[in-house]
Amino acid sequence: MKQFLIMAMLASLTLNAGNIERGVDRSNLDPAVSPGENFYLYACGGWMKAHPLDPQYARFGTFDQLAENSREQVKDIITSLGTGNQQGSIRQKVGDLYAMGMDSVRLNNEGGAALTADLAIIKNAKPADFTRLVARLQRGVSSPFFDGSVMADLKSSNENLFYLTQGGIGMGDRDYYLDNDKNTAAVRQAYVDYINRLFVLTGSKKGAAKKAAANVMKIETELAQVAMTREQTRDYSRLYNIMSLDELKNRYQGINWEQYFGEMGCTVKRVCVFQPASLACVSNMLQNYKENVIKDYLAFKYIDAAAPYLSDDFVQVHFDFYSRAMSGKKVMQPRWKRALNVPNTLLGEAVGQLYVEKYFPAESKKKMQRLVDNLKVALGEHIASLTWMSPKTKVNALVKLNSFTVKIGYPDKWRDYSGLAIDASKPYWENVKQARTFLADYEISQLDKPVDKERWYMTPQTVNAYYEPSSNEICFPAGILQKPYFDPEADDAVNYGAIGVVIGHEMTHGFDDQGRNFDHNGNMVDWWTAEDAEQFKVLASKLGAQYSAEIVADDVHANGEYTMGENIADHGGLRVAYSAFKKTAQGKADEAIDGFTPDQRFFLSYANVWAANITKEEILRRTKVDPHSLGVNRVNVAIRNLEPFFKAFNVHSGDKMWRAPEDRVIIW
Ligand SMILES: [Zn+2]
Repeated sequence: MKQFLIMAMLASLTLNAGNIERGVDRSNLDPAVSPGENFYLYACGGWMKAHPLDPQYARFGTFDQLAENSREQVKDIITSLGTGNQQGSIRQKVGDLYAMGMDSVRLNNEGGAALTADLAIIKNAKPADFTRLVARLQRGVSSPFFDGSVMADLKSSNENLFYLTQGGIGMGDRDYYLDNDKNTAAVRQAYVDYINRLFVLTGSKKGAAKKAAANVMKIETELAQVAMTREQTRDYSRLYNIMSLDELKNRYQGINWEQYFGEMGCTVKRVCVFQPASLACVSNMLQNYKENVIKDYLAFKYIDAAAPYLSDDFVQVHFDFYSRAMSGKKVMQPRWKRALNVPNTLLGEAVGQLYVEKYFPAESKKKMQRLVDNLKVALGEHIASLTWMSPKTKVNALVKLNSFTVKIGYPDKWRDYSGLAIDASKPYWENVKQARTFLADYEISQLDKPVDKERWYMTPQTVNAYYEPSSNEICFPAGILQKPYFDPEADDAVNYGAIGVVIGHEMTHGFDDQGRNFDHNGNMVDWWTAEDAEQFKVLASKLGAQYSAEIVADDVHANGEYTMGENIADHGGLRVAYSAFKKTAQGKADEAIDGFTPDQRFFLSYANVWAANITKEEILRRTKVDPHSLGVNRVNVAIRNLEPFFKAFNVHSGDKMWRAPEDRVIIW
């Protein structure tokens, strides 16, 4: 019996027992670069040369390659549905929505006609109707001025709460409106041109369009000026401002709250206002600004949301700004990709259900569960052995770790789309708008219900994973459980270096600078001793400084503060996956495959996850709006905190990749 148990444990630690092994792909490497000089280029340079950036993309890497494979799979499913299916069936809804997006002749004939009625409503509105219009747009179309949404109460995770958050700025971050460097100023000018062109396309005369664009910029710039910085928005304790409905009415009198919640279709007694200063600014605008300024802004928000679903001239103008000017893309995606995204997003779980039936082997779920269990054990051991944390806080950390809900592959309960009608006799945009409103109304309808712990926040076909603090759950959709991230027939080093780090990354989010503020039940409760919290902050800021020291383009530095949560997650993910890997038979055996030791294969596999080419525009854009570090830093900055990396590649003092032991950080 004893022997059986040991065998069983070994089998459970080793993913690929008995199978053929696939190691690291040598062609990904650039042997001309030494690992001690630039590990990222050494590990990924071959891949980067072999995959010059396709002009359709602003960034393309192995991650995107897998997303493309998933897209091909979804295409197979959706195109096989065809049209002419029974009205009201899922096949009809998905198939017709795709077919409408593909019908370029009809789309170009209709032009912007689908907007006429709604734009007339905005044009003829009286100031007394403005709040209703704002709420109407917020139901799935756009987020003028601010955003309203329903999510779990941060301090009472079984109950839902209505949140009011800052929004209304089309470029996504305040810095685009306020920074005056050359690159940002160029993007801002392109945005003004974009607004202008949209108004011209919907029939405004040149002079009027120019004036309207100035009005839109006036509002958005003021919203940007009072907006919290992206670093500030990461601090939940600062965001959690509960107000009663009476208080809301008192404080923000320019917004008609009865009208707002009436249009939203919900009754609230209390709300959470994330950014009070922003809402005060909106209230003032709605009360004091000239009618035509508000109307120009609302009209723009509406046209901007609809543009991708109209005739080619609208689509082109939208592409020229968001994809070309902001990201550096040269060529638009082919129509089929754009058309596919629509049912794949709006009827995401319906497509997902078909997807997992066809592409997700039941066996994968079991194997993934085993990996997750191994990572959990390793993270538990790390927590127990931390030298900077007291036993008291460790107990709470372990309770949290052991309370993780793990979701793998696809949900047990699927979304019901029976209330959504897709009617091919109506314009494409009309159908898209209806579907988006249907989804937004579903979210709002959750307000009076307990939080649905079974729901998924990503569709199964998504190539990604997440941690959700309010439910303390980690989720790995079927889409990411494919080669090269997850390959049951590959070498353990390859699996632990890729999907293993992804698992460790999501787990560590539960303990990053945001996640650590939530307890095992998903409530914002402080479970730390004051000294431990202080220690954590010291270590985190040391890690942040490692990233901020990196230059991403020109003289722009990486933002270690904004990317803090993701960097901590990468840090923990790497360390924990490495420890879990070292418990496998292969991790222990120290046998080379294709000339690489197990440790070398682990780090190469990790680096290959981030192999990518990227435009300079996209580097600058992501540095402003993406909480993740760039691929090169996710590799080169992160791995230099791991002693085994230096050993594996014989990196020494004097090498560029070297980091002295006293400068390394160990948090998790
Ligand atoms: Zn993350």
